[in-house]
Parts: sequence; structure tokens; C-alpha cells
Amino acid sequence: MALVTGASRGIGAAIARALAEAGADVAVHANATSPEATCEAVRALGRRAAPLIADTGSADAAERLVSEAIETLGAVDILVNNAGIIRRGPTVDTRDEDWHAVIDVNLHGVFRLCRAAGRHMLSSGRGGKIINIASLLSFQGGLNVPAYAAAKSAVAGLTKELANEWAAKGINVNAIAPGYIRTDNTVALQNDETRSRQILERIPAGRWGDAQDLGGAAVFLASRASDYVHGHILAVDGGWLGR
Ligand code: NAP
Repeated sequence: MALVTGASRGIGAAIARALAEAGADVAVHANATSPEATCEAVRALGRRAAPLIADTGSADAAERLVSEAIETLGAVDILVNNAGIIRRGPTVDTRDEDWHAVIDVNLHGVFRLCRAAGRHMLSSGRGGKIINIASLLSFQGGLNVPAYAAAKSAVAGLTKELANEWAAKGINVNAIAPGYIRTDNTVALQNDETRSRQILERIPAGRWGDAQDLGGAAVFLASRASDYVHGHILAVDGGWLGR
């Protein structure tokens, strides 16, 4: 079974569908939006689905989510840490509450879910696959997104650290770094004609990504095909980082 956080929409919903298509039952997590549409898509593919609700920025969410996922669908074999938020603005205008909100969801929540799922995978002896959703800003600084860049760089470091701890214990910990993907997360950029054009000009593939573009990488990192891949940050970016 796969637990996918932030799977109500965007990249998480596409990854949940891709994993179901590849044969996984899916615990479909969301915060404020209903995860039912994604659950229906998973069931339409012949797999079982269970909706889970939590603010992953809160301290008790991770343990509860992993427990509920196990109770409803059985062992967590795959964890996709996808839930994430972004707050845009110059550093001098960034309020403490914006900084904390982003770090709580994008870093603390990811750490706690890795820890909770890792404990379960280690104690069950089944091992597993953990896939964290990083970003181009795990490699680059970005602009006017200080907390987001800090959190995503930390997610890359955490991914490598956990791979060092758990690689020999049957758990693969890797990350996917999406490029510029058309979702709610990037609406501000999509609506800014100049930024949108500048971004497009730098993408070798000649187009922004769609959420579905992430499905194949997630299936690979969740499958036996990646059994000897550990601590890797896989960019799915239309070639952006190579430019
Ligand atoms: P999105 O369309 O805005 O979806 C975000 C998801 O995260 C939603 O399912 C949302 O649930 C969930 N979420 C938001 N706040 C939460 C909270 N406090 N607790 C739990 N879940 C919460 O974003 P997306 O573009 O698909 O992004 C998914 C991941 O990819 C994020 O980690 C993002 O940083 C990363 N990423 C995106 C891009 C891009 O270009 N889009 C690029 C690089 C990395 P609700 O619907 O319930 O609010």
C-alpha cells in the first residue's frame, strides 16, 4: 500500500493515480480539500483507496496518518511525502508566521512522516520505499521564496541522510525534484506573463510540465526497479537543471 500526502490535487493526485495504475492500493491524504475525487480515480483503476485528513504541519499528524493508513489498508510499503505549500514575497517582508508555516509543512511534516513510516517499515521487517518531493530549489536558490528554498534544500539533505541510515535495512529513500509544473502551487508564476515567458525560454523541453509528468518517476522509485537506488534526487524538469 502507498500513502501519498497532498493527493487531493496537483502532483500528489497524479502520483496517486500512477501508483494505482501500477497496482498499489492508496491511502489518499489531504488537508482542506476532499480527497474523494482521487479516491474515486484509484478505485476506478481497480485498487482500494482510503481518504485521510490532516494538517501535516501539526506535530501529531504523522503518527496518526501512518496508523490510520495501516488500519484501513494494511502495511505502508510506499510513502510519498508530497504535501507542500509556498509563500511568495521578498525576505524583508516575510513574517515569522509565513516562515514557520512553510517550514512546518515542507520540512517538519516530511521529517515526522519519514520517521513514522520508517519505524513501521523497520519494525515490520518489510522494508519499503520513501519518496520525498523536493524541488529545483533543492539545488538552486530561487527568488522571493526564502522559507520554501530553505525547506526544499533541507529535504534533499534529509533524503540523503535517511538513505545512509536505512539503505542496508531494506528501505529506499529518494526524492523527486519537479521542474515548473502547472498546478495551484505555480499559479502566480503562470499568471505573470514576463516570468512565465522567461521560465519557458529556459526549459529545453519547450513546455511547462503537467502533474502527470511525475507519475513515471514515482512508479520507478516505488518499484523493485529502483532497489539499488538510494539517496538520489531525481529531477523531472524538462531539462531545466542541465541548461
Ligand atoms: P498544489 O496543487 O498546491 O497541492 C498541494 C497539496 O498539498 C494539496 O493536496 C494540499 O491539500 C496539500 N497541503 C497543503 N497544505 C497542507 C497542510 N498544511 N497539510 C497537509 N497537506 C497540505 O501543489 P503541487 O504543485 O501539486 O505541489 C506538490 C508538491 O510538489 C509540493 O511539495 C511542492 O512544493 C512540490 N513542487 C511543486 C512544483 C510545481 O511546479 N508545481 C515544483 C517543485 C516542487 P489540500 O488540497 O487539502 O489543501
